Amino acid sequence: MIVLMRTGATQTEVDDVVQRAKSLELGVQLNLGTDKTVVAILGSNTGQLPTETFAVLPGVESVTRIMKPYKLASREFKAEDSLVSVNGIEIGGKRIVVMAGPCAVESEEQLMEVARVVKESGASLLRGGAFKPRTSPFSFQGLEKDGLELLARAREQFGIPIITEVIDPHDVDLVSKYADILQVGARNMQNFTLLTNIGRRKCPVVLKRGFSCTVTEWLTAADYLLAEGNNQVILCERGIRTFEDSTRFSLDIASIPVVKKFSHLPVIVDPSHAAGHYSLVPAIAKAVVAAGADGLLIEVHPNPKEALVDGLQSLTPSDFTRLMKELEPIAKSVGRYI
Ligand code: PEP
Ligand code: MN
Repeated sequence: MIVLMRTGATQTEVDDVVQRAKSLELGVQLNLGTDKTVVAILGSNTGQLPTETFAVLPGVESVTRIMKPYKLASREFKAEDSLVSVNGIEIGGKRIVVMAGPCAVESEEQLMEVARVVKESGASLLRGGAFKPRTSPFSFQGLEKDGLELLARAREQFGIPIITEVIDPHDVDLVSKYADILQVGARNMQNFTLLTNIGRRKCPVVLKRGFSCTVTEWLTAADYLLAEGNNQVILCERGIRTFEDSTRFSLDIASIPVVKKFSHLPVIVDPSHAAGHYSLVPAIAKAVVAAGADGLLIEVHPNPKEALVDGLQSLTPSDFTRLMKELEPIAKSVGRYI
């Protein structure tokens, strides 16, 4: 239930709404907009509650029900676009924010080489997995803590913030000591314990779309992060499962305008995992920038032939540098820059 306060409603009036909700054992989240305050009333039984419960209180302009399963991620709760700020880099603003690097951190040499290239080419963040969610238990699982140490070293040496995945709810504290942005992978989009722990940590987070999940399920998963008071949430489209098998996943390009329509959260796109092949990555990257994505997450490897993970979909340094240049006019054509 959304309680919209009148322009100029006093703090006491807002507090009264909050107190009323608490007395009914309901949760509350506030959106302190520039003009009006919105109070989201949250709980499993708000559907049974008459809107008058809050409509009669002084300072309340209107009370509406959000009919969608997601509440805090919705435009009803927050009409204006959210911006996520990481080390002075704004995600969701005019700039297309590029996060690039290897699928997995493999060695110091590999990571430093790729960090240098992505920084020089104008990427804003370095990506690299230390904990890898592999489909087979016999595949390389990542360098774990040693990988995090290498990422920290790359950040120091090249002055570039890092994004890395956390897969275990118990590792949220550890990984967030190193990462500027935590990544929740597609396989963990509905790992609600993980989401709640990251929500409590209140650190910037990229929430990838599960490959068998609808946009509604994705936004409802984002509510787990937002419900803990973490509003530093970035969504990432990375392709879904369909009958089509000429790409690794089918990139749902329409999800970008759909998310923009129904949610205030920024949305970036990972063309690498959708494509599954390096030759397809540049075209997809350009298309999603044209479609309104706020950023890109791209796999780059200094020597894809030797990559331990996802070499086939990784760009070489020179391909990545070329793509960054090619994205400039596309970004400009939609009123953005890279
Ligand atoms: C990754 O980014 O390396 C990754 C494993 O992605 P996803 O969770 O989208 O499969
Ligand atoms: Mn990968």
